[in-house]
Amino acid sequence: MPDTVQKSIAIVVPVYNESQGLDALHQRLRAVMETLPYDWRIVLVDDGSADASWEKIKEIASRDERVKGLMLSRNFGKEMALTAGVELCADVDAVICIDADLQHPPELIPTLTARWEEGYEIVATVREAVADYSPLKKFGSKAFYWVMTRYSDLDIPPSSTDFRLLDRKVVHTLLEFTERTRMFRGLIDWMGFRKTYIPFVAPARDTGQVGYSFKKLFNLAVNSFTSFSLLPLRFTGYLGLTIIALSLLVLGFMLTGNVLWGANYTPMAFFTVFNTFLIGIVLCGLGMVSLYIGHIHTEVVQRPLYIIRERAGRWE
Ligand code: UDP
Ligand code: MG
Repeated sequence: MPDTVQKSIAIVVPVYNESQGLDALHQRLRAVMETLPYDWRIVLVDDGSADASWEKIKEIASRDERVKGLMLSRNFGKEMALTAGVELCADVDAVICIDADLQHPPELIPTLTARWEEGYEIVATVREAVADYSPLKKFGSKAFYWVMTRYSDLDIPPSSTDFRLLDRKVVHTLLEFTERTRMFRGLIDWMGFRKTYIPFVAPARDTGQVGYSFKKLFNLAVNSFTSFSLLPLRFTGYLGLTIIALSLLVLGFMLTGNVLWGANYTPMAFFTVFNTFLIGIVLCGLGMVSLYIGHIHTEVVQRPLYIIRERAGRWE
């Protein structure tokens, strides 16, 4: 064994109506973790499940002292469940987030920890295929990543998942974020750090229901987009500018027509185009206001301005 002090790992699992699958999850996680030289624990966060998940969690925790349970007062969504779990694990050397439905194979954990030992601070996974996604969900997810990578400050590879290992540095940084609307994955991607990706094939869910309805996913997508991009705010401004330019062009065309070629555009026609021009100006004004709102947004979320990875020398 290389180290005298064992490193510790916490496995954080968001649980929403997963009572049937929890035993299998626990067994597989245990089997994998016992092969690794770490001090480990499993944190099961019940995200306000309506089924017997919490009873199951308590039962498993009473059998296995390495298992801890946490119940949220209602369904807050996976992002918050993960945040809650991770925040309570500030004392460990690394946190691994994994879904409860076994769509994230626990057998991949040794690969994650191996990369971590190589010095990567974030070891993320990329899903190569998902067996049970509907075409709509697949399309939605593709479209989402396409828009996100183009128009936001983030660069997330498509199909990156929440199954990832976070070094304690990353966990501690995460605790500094105070924003209310958050996309866990997005925040972590925003942070930087040394990051690597491991591909895997996700099996279909064998028990329980997919907890993420289309509506939930859509809201998550909108939230993520608006918290990492000001494009929607700027959009009105751009639209205004386009309208101004176009109506000026048309006005010019009509004027030259009337003066040079004897075309006969009525005053009403001029008035209509002029009106459109005014609408353009109003939208531009709105766009300006939006820019300021954008600044307010940036101030209000109070993200750390920069993140330090390491220090060298004496710093007291
Ligand atoms: N989940 C949660 N709260 C929710 C929805 C889901 O904690 O409101 C958990 C769920 O129990 C599972 C993980 O988040 O462990 C992923 O959920 P799901 O399998 O429904 O999503 P998908 O696999 O489609 O990403
Ligand atoms: Mg799933």
